[in-house]
Amino acid sequence: MSEIFRADLHTHSYFSDGTCSPEELIDLAKEKGLQGLSITDHDTQEAYPRAFLYAKERNFPLLPGIEFSTSHRKESVHILCYAHNPKSVAIQKLCAQHKERRRERNSLIIARLQKLGIPITEEEVAGRVKSFGTMGRPHIGQLLVQKGVVSDLKEAFSRYLGEGKAAYVEGVIISLEETVASIHEARGKAVIAHPMLIQRSNVLKTLLEMPFDGIEGYYAEISAEIEAPYIEKARKKGWLITGGSDFHGLNKAHNPLGSSWVDHKTFTFLYEHYLSQPA
Ligand code: AMP
Ligand code: FE
Ligand code: FE
Ligand code: ZN
Repeated sequence: MSEIFRADLHTHSYFSDGTCSPEELIDLAKEKGLQGLSITDHDTQEAYPRAFLYAKERNFPLLPGIEFSTSHRKESVHILCYAHNPKSVAIQKLCAQHKERRRERNSLIIARLQKLGIPITEEEVAGRVKSFGTMGRPHIGQLLVQKGVVSDLKEAFSRYLGEGKAAYVEGVIISLEETVASIHEARGKAVIAHPMLIQRSNVLKTLLEMPFDGIEGYYAEISAEIEAPYIEKARKKGWLITGGSDFHGLNKAHNPLGSSWVDHKTFTFLYEHYLSQPA
């Protein structure tokens, strides 16, 4: 067991675009000496019924989390939700809206690929995701790799699926404001995910004027030098500073579990907030 307290607050299971089951994620976290974890699948909390049960049996602190997709001025922005009430109607509604948004968008992306002469069907893509999980561009990209249309996922994004590329479809957007409001309605904490990946400074500027509760200051294996200004911005605002690896299993093999984390104080604050949620 590691001496320092570390809790990884940004991980993906196979209920979105990770390759591990919720149980495998918890086992792996324990193996790595982590003392807390949040599974933050894209736009779904489908991993949680199983994950809560497994974590409880092992007495392992698991903090509820979700990574919501939004967009501002055509730039993709991710928002982490933590310590909310998983039974909240507002959160369940938001996840359901995303499911519908993705269903429409994926089918438009597939239609574009078909128009480009690539043989691909919705059924084939649907077969690649766990029953109720989130389906998205990574699943379409993997299928393109499997079919030999591209050599890897990176090429799938740079040629077809990335913003502005041949088969890119933005689709319906669920706004930043609506996302933050739903998180707060569920008594959760809204955190700006990986701010260092936001390309345009005026997008971040807008976010900093909104009622967020925190910034993900520690991210994956990004250097302390790059993280420092974001940590400073959070400090100035009196916001939470969170951290996590963005572990996706074999889908992003360069991103190991536990490469970034939060300390005991931050984890305890969030975990106790979650424990105070109505049953
Ligand atoms: P979606 O949620 O369907 O819009 O897909 C976005 C997800 O695709 C991100 O969360 C990443 O996990 C993944 N992704 C984005 N860009 C790339 C890339 N260039 N290579 C591989 N995966 C990517
Ligand atoms: Fe992802
Ligand atoms: Fe993200
Ligand atoms: Zn993520």
